[in-house]
Amino acid sequence: MGSWLCEALIRLGSKVTCLDNLSSGRFENIMHLVNEENFEYIRGDVAEGVEGKYDIIFHLASRASPLEFLRYPIEIIKANAFGTYNLLELARRNDSIFFLASTSEVYGDSKVIPIPEDYRGNVNPVGERSCYDESKRLAEALCYAFHKQYGLRVMIGRIFNTYGPRMRYEGYYGRVIPRFIVQALKNEPITIFGDGNQTRSFCYVTDLIIQILKFVSKNLKFEILNLGNDEEIKIIDLAKLIIKLTNSNSKIIFLPPMPDDPRRRKPDLSKMFKLLNFKPKISLKEGLLKTISWFKNELRI
Ligand code: UDP
Repeated sequence: MGSWLCEALIRLGSKVTCLDNLSSGRFENIMHLVNEENFEYIRGDVAEGVEGKYDIIFHLASRASPLEFLRYPIEIIKANAFGTYNLLELARRNDSIFFLASTSEVYGDSKVIPIPEDYRGNVNPVGERSCYDESKRLAEALCYAFHKQYGLRVMIGRIFNTYGPRMRYEGYYGRVIPRFIVQALKNEPITIFGDGNQTRSFCYVTDLIIQILKFVSKNLKFEILNLGNDEEIKIIDLAKLIIKLTNSNSKIIFLPPMPDDPRRRKPDLSKMFKLLNFKPKISLKEGLLKTISWFKNELRI
C-alpha cells in the first residue's frame, strides 16, 4: 500500500520521503521511483525514532499478515506503539497533519454487520491476534491523546482488507488473495483455513489510495473513517472465483482455522461515502483479474 501511496503522491507533484525497514515490504515495489527527483527512500524503523520535517505524515508501518502475528508479535507492538508515538511527536514538533493506517481489526470478531465506526469492538486482549488488534487500538488512543492535548490534526483510516499487485504471497507474509492466486496459477491445492464460510470485503488498492488522499485533503481536525469496499464474499466463494478466473486445476483443501479468525467482516461505509463523496470503482472480479495478470508476469507463468 505504501508504494502505491508514494507513487500517487509523486504523480500529484509532492515531495515524498519513504521510510521502511523492509521487514515485510519489498524494495522492488519502489524501485521505479528511486530516480524521481522528488522521491527519497530511507531505510529505517519507526520504532527506533524518526527525524525530519513534513507537512503530512502517513503512518502505514506494521506487519499486517495474521501469519506474521504468530511469529513477530513484539515487533508488531513496537511498530504500532513506539512507532506511532515517535511519529506523533514528530508531527507535533512540526505541526504536521497525521494519518494513521488503522485497521478493521480494532473491531475484532464483530457482533455487528456491517460495522460502523462507533462499534467498539469484540477483541481478545490476550490471543494470537492481540499483538496487532490491541496495538492498533493503542495507536488510535495515542492519536486521540495528541489531538486532545496538543490540538494535532489527525485522520484515522480503519482500513479493511485491501489487495492488488505488489503483495507478497510467500510463507507467513501471504494474505489470502495473493496466496490463493499463486496456488491457483501453480495448480497447487487452495488452502482454506476453517470451513470457508468466514467472510471478508476486499478493496482494490487504487480505490483505497484514492480514499486516503481524499481523506487527508479535507480540512478536518480529528476524524475516524472506515476505508475499503463493502462487497462481502465468503472465503470459499473467493477460492472458487480465483480458480475460475485463472482456469486452474487446483483442488480446495480445508486446514484448521486461524485462531480468533473473525467470522464476518464488512464495513459500513456510509460515513466515508458522505464525507469523501467517493464509491470504490473496481469490482472484485476486475481487481482480481488485474492482480492475477501481475502475478503471472511476476512469476513468469
Ligand atoms: N485464509 C484462508 N487460507 C489462506 C489464507 C487465509 O482460508 O491461505 C483465510 C483466513 O483464515 C481469513 C481470510 O482468509 O479468514 C482472510 O485472511 P487474510 O490473511 O487475508 O487476513 P485477515 O482478513 O484475516 O486479516
